[in-house]
Amino acid sequence: MVSDMKIQIYGAGMAGSYLYMLLSEEFDVTVKDTRKKPDCRCAWGTMHSEAKKLYKEIEINLDEFILVKPKYAIANGIKIKNKNVVIFDRKRLLEELWSQIKFGDTKADIIVDATGYKRALLPKLNDKLYPTIQTIEEHDVEENIYAYGRKTGYAWAFPLGDNKWHIGAGDVNERRAQELIEILRQKYGFNETQKICSCKSKIRLLPPSKCRPFIYKNIVGVGEAIGCVSGFGEGNAPSLLSAKILAECLTSNSLDEYEKRILGEFKWIEEEHEFVESVQNGKKLKILLKIPKVMAIEKNRSVEYSIKDLLQLIRTLR
Ligand SMILES: Cc1cc2nc3c(=O)[nH]c(=O)nc-3n(C[C@H](O)[C@H](O)[C@H](O)COP(=O)(O)OP(=O)(O)OC[C@H]3O[C@@H](n4cnc5c(N)ncnc54)[C@H](O)[C@@H]3O)c2cc1C
Repeated sequence: MVSDMKIQIYGAGMAGSYLYMLLSEEFDVTVKDTRKKPDCRCAWGTMHSEAKKLYKEIEINLDEFILVKPKYAIANGIKIKNKNVVIFDRKRLLEELWSQIKFGDTKADIIVDATGYKRALLPKLNDKLYPTIQTIEEHDVEENIYAYGRKTGYAWAFPLGDNKWHIGAGDVNERRAQELIEILRQKYGFNETQKICSCKSKIRLLPPSKCRPFIYKNIVGVGEAIGCVSGFGEGNAPSLLSAKILAECLTSNSLDEYEKRILGEFKWIEEEHEFVESVQNGKKLKILLKIPKVMAIEKNRSVEYSIKDLLQLIRTLR
């Protein structure tokens, strides 16, 4: 241990467990989670290049956890090429990290709120939390990512290999999320079947700029607690990156730069949220102005589509 500063992390999800691994050689770090084991919620899609690079820093080879690399993503019937999205065994990866974490609850100099959508320690926000429902089921369907969306939410089917699938949806309320799942089933042939497991969660759809403060007294937030989730619900790799930024600020004793660095790094998240809001509010001019930016962001991160595909997709959103 290089420093005698004590750090207590609350939440051992994507951000908290990664942050522990980055900090534990330098500081006295303990972690507390309200769960007994990592959650198995369906959030198993991630951006391969970015997540692989970040996990490499803690000597984890992401490729050992990859289940499927789907060739296509099919959204409202429109088929687009997948460039970088992989489905990984998030639960097994978290279990691997948990086996190395020192769990405990100690009096610390710095407290980290890594409690995801709960944001259990930082001041409450004027929040936008969408409920999600999800199941694991068996289906014999070609291994692509399938989605069915409308303006306020979408349903998805992610292949997990061996004919297993995560089926889920998020929308402004559970009833609408359930409706979306029913449409997805009909559209792509995921007939109602026995569920291997099912659960519910929530997702924060507010960008970082609307999740301030990031720091309050000796509490500092990371991951979804400070809005590191894209407008389309991508939060795994952003949570890791936010933890890396926090680790760098703590090790270089420059916590005062943390907010600026997060807001700078995640400008693309702000862009995506603005785009989604314009679509939801039917702001045609704003949508057109944002399209090139959003296409460039997604081409770089995840999937590649043409303007024609995107406009067609927007037209199908009810
Ligand atoms: C249904 C669903 C599907 C998703 N799919 C994807 C996807 O495919 N790809 C993607 O990139 N993102 C996805 N996301 C978003 C992504 O899961 C999150 O943004 C990401 O996990 C956030 O990481 P985090 O570490 O901030 O929070 P989490 O990973 O949620 O971890 C928070 C941890 O805090 C713990 N906790 C909560 N309250 C307390 C407390 N009071 N004290 C101590 N511990 C506490 C929880 O038990 C949990 O372990 C999805 C989200 C949902 C809800």
